[in-house]
Amino acid sequence: MNFSTKKLHDSDNLNEITSRLKGVVKRSNGGYLAFCPSHNDQKGRSLAVSLGRQDQVLMHCFAGCSVHEITQAIGLNPADLFPRTECKYEPQARSYFNDWQIIHALQRDALIVLIAARTMLTGKALPEEDVSCLSNAVIRINDAASYSRRFQ
Ligand SMILES: [Zn+2]
Repeated sequence: MNFSTKKLHDSDNLNEITSRLKGVVKRSNGGYLAFCPSHNDQKGRSLAVSLGRQDQVLMHCFAGCSVHEITQAIGLNPADLFPRTECKYEPQARSYFNDWQIIHALQRDALIVLIAARTMLTGKALPEEDVSCLSNAVIRINDAASYSRRFQ
């Protein structure tokens, strides 16, 4: 069987929306027809409602009402047609460093630069591994500068 069981069940979202509509009837394709709340739907059931691939609720008024008008008429907005997990704002989705973390990292890199400078002041050549350590520190300092620029 190729049918996904998920498709056979209505999402909570779809239930929530159909509960706000009048004259809801189920269609053979699994979707619904209802009276469009956005226009005077005397001819009856101009609104087709179904579930999309991403579990978003699809709405189509055959009289031409926009999704915005339809959702507004039932006290919702177009974002409510999407599953709640999909449109949840996740500030931690990308991990930015906070100022404290950046300064803490810079402290360490400043120390590396200082040690390298002192070594060179004594007239000694900087060992190869210390040179790469120093250049990594410089790269991180530049990265930190571009991070903090993003917050301005
Ligand atoms: Zn309509």
